[in-house]
Amino acid sequence: MKCKDILKELADYLDEALDPDLRASIEHHLGKCVDCRVVVDTTRQTIQIFCNSEPAPLPPSTRQRLHDALTRKLGRVHS
Ligand SMILES: [Zn+2]
Repeated sequence: MKCKDILKELADYLDEALDPDLRASIEHHLGKCVDCRVVVDTTRQTIQIFCNSEPAPLPPSTRQRLHDALTRKLGRVHS
């Protein structure tokens, strides 16, 4: 298995959607190829960051400032 094969299977590997033989080949390659290991680790971390991040709710003060600014801008919204 070559580096480009690893990259080709990377998404499925991280998804744990590969069949065991292919997975074993990739892990064997990762055991001796630092470059691919870095790519796999980095990609995995990136995926975890994306999966764990939720849109942050606006803090009330920011929400109020935004509301005030919109109210002033529109000039006719009162609440
Ligand atoms: Zn490699």
